[in-house]
Amino acid sequence: MENDIAESEISARGPWRTLLRGLSDVVFPPACVHCRGLVPDESEFRHLCGKCAAQLDYVQRPFCTTCGHPFYGVVEGERLCPHCEGLAPAYREGRTAVLLKGAARALVHELKYHRGLHVLEDMERIFRRSAAVVELARGAVLVPVPLHPRKLRERTYNQSELIAECLARAAGGGARVQRILQRSVDTDSQTHHDRRTRQSNLKNAFALARDAVIHPGHSYLLVDDVFTTGSTLNSCALVLRRAGGVNLDVVTFGHG
Ligand SMILES: [Zn+2]
Ligand SMILES: [Zn+2]
Repeated sequence: MENDIAESEISARGPWRTLLRGLSDVVFPPACVHCRGLVPDESEFRHLCGKCAAQLDYVQRPFCTTCGHPFYGVVEGERLCPHCEGLAPAYREGRTAVLLKGAARALVHELKYHRGLHVLEDMERIFRRSAAVVELARGAVLVPVPLHPRKLRERTYNQSELIAECLARAAGGGARVQRILQRSVDTDSQTHHDRRTRQSNLKNAFALARDAVIHPGHSYLLVDDVFTTGSTLNSCALVLRRAGGVNLDVVTFGHG
């Protein structure tokens, strides 16, 4: 597991990334990951054309404080959010940068399923424009949702960890990534179980990493690529909270 993590870090940053990018730009001119059109040099994003970038749906206030999905129209008092109904959050607040559709979905897919580590620079740009997300990350310990070692061997990197590193760079102010959780149950391989069984297995799927120390005075921020039902994030939150991490929030790149 350690070796896999080290490899993913080497491939994700440093002079190698610059060199590889330079080479790949010569062989493959930058194409938009969403529409495959050409991305001109002066574009704000490197892997999204201007037209697709303009369709990014940045989350604006007011939004649900549990999952970060925006509320549309006038909001008065408490309002129930259909996206996180039934979730009893073990964390304080949940926020998300963009809605997971169109270009944002294409970025996540490229990163997750096509080894597209190059899109991380655009994700970092998106975080920089997401004031509410950056605000939670500043000064916090960013905790990526871990992959099971089997999955990590298969993919060779944990996308949530790379996204957390992007967010730490975008936020600055002492934000740093720490791998303090581990996934001990391989929930992905349990597709033969019914939904309820998988849900209950998920509850015990995470544990504190060996030697991890939780400081009650620190702010912790769980980071994942996508918010769907919130049950994975909440299982992680429970472990941190039980270990004394009471200043605990949640951030995802996309919601959907
Ligand atoms: Zn495009
Ligand atoms: Zn919600």
